[in-house]
Amino acid sequence: MSEHRIDRERLAALARREAERFTTTHPKSAELASQARPHLLSGVPMHWMSDWGTPFSLFVSSAAGNRLVDVDGHEYLDFCLGDTGAMFGHSPAPVAAAIAQHATGGYTTMLPSPDAARVGALLAERFGLPVWQVCTSATDANRFVIRWARALTDRDKILVFDGCYHGTADDTLVRLHGGDTVPRPGLVGQVNDLAAHTVVAEFNDLAGVEALLARGDVAAVLTEPALTNIGMVLPEPGFIEGLRALTERYDTLLILDETHTISAGWGGWSGELRVVPDLLTLGKPVAGGLPAAVFGMSRAVAERAEAFLAQKEAGHSGMGTTLSANLFTLAAMRANLESVMTPNAYATMQDTAAYLAERLTALFDQHRLPWCVTQIGARCEFQFCAERPRTGREAEAAMDHELEAALHLYLLNRGVLITPFHNMTLCAPDTRRSDVDRLVDALGEALVELA
Ligand code: PMP
Repeated sequence: MSEHRIDRERLAALARREAERFTTTHPKSAELASQARPHLLSGVPMHWMSDWGTPFSLFVSSAAGNRLVDVDGHEYLDFCLGDTGAMFGHSPAPVAAAIAQHATGGYTTMLPSPDAARVGALLAERFGLPVWQVCTSATDANRFVIRWARALTDRDKILVFDGCYHGTADDTLVRLHGGDTVPRPGLVGQVNDLAAHTVVAEFNDLAGVEALLARGDVAAVLTEPALTNIGMVLPEPGFIEGLRALTERYDTLLILDETHTISAGWGGWSGELRVVPDLLTLGKPVAGGLPAAVFGMSRAVAERAEAFLAQKEAGHSGMGTTLSANLFTLAAMRANLESVMTPNAYATMQDTAAYLAERLTALFDQHRLPWCVTQIGARCEFQFCAERPRTGREAEAAMDHELEAALHLYLLNRGVLITPFHNMTLCAPDTRRSDVDRLVDALGEALVELA
């Protein structure tokens, strides 16, 4: 449990009251939840959709820009933005126009469209990696780069960091426990020995990474430039550059997963740092919120991959997903890269997020709460600890799920959504300072009750 001055009895009372308030004010969601219950597992299309801490699921009728409307007609300021999938706003106009234009031109053919070459060129310009592939989810992108890394290096292991999340790619669903690689708790139907081909290091521990790389069997280091899925853990100055240098020294490939850190800037975190990885993955917002992801590679990796394909025996590569790079998604991705994920959009989002970080910091100071605020471009996170955590374990120790769930529900009942499972907020191009004020003011009201 984290160090903070929260009255637990008042917290429990607030949580009960907010659950009742949600129930009385969301009758249509309640009705839809009961209709969905018999035919959808856990009453939702994917079971984790019921993990928002509401007494029953909130049903959404529409979303536009940074706003979302539920079936009961309540409007929400959306700081979750589909956990980054809608980071540039819901239905951005250029993507909507591209989709409308392609709505009657066919969706999926297993063949490239004229947008393909342009998308490749746009990605190369943005990320400094020349060669790209398009798939359907960030999970798939990570699975596929892991396969390529193993195939091209002829090594079996990958190295990830404790507290990482790279989607449901099995090889990455591990934790570090007493120095050992162990499966993450909670995995359903896990049968493979995840420790056989994955090693885990502490984030920000270059010496630990070097000790593992020196064994000579690590195909790739896969990491986000900052851990963003266990609260948030920033790299210490020189850590990512150090990974680059170490991976070069030990002939290991460096894979950066920029799916969340794309919030850092136009070219992602690596672009800001000017570190070029061997492979880079990005999903979620890349096609404006449609299911799509990309992975890029250096010329050297691409040449090895093409040589590998030329010699490969006939059969399945293990990299699939039939709907990948379909006509419709490529058109959306092109419009999004050309006209939505622009330097101007970033400037606006980062300015708003800086204001949010400032206001949150002032609020916690005012309440003498030892909580820290971390900003990565358009993304902010607050954590229930005074010092920013240096490792996944430290970040986990600062979590307080009871407090977090109560605060999130309090905000939701006042028309503000933030990302479940931790305290992550994203500012879209449409997010205004007045929206930020509403979020921080509502949070402030909850803290008056609790602190
Ligand atoms: N990489 C990172 C850094 C992520 O945060 C996530 C999802 N939260 C993924 C990959 C996987 O994305 P998806 O669930 O869309 O496959």
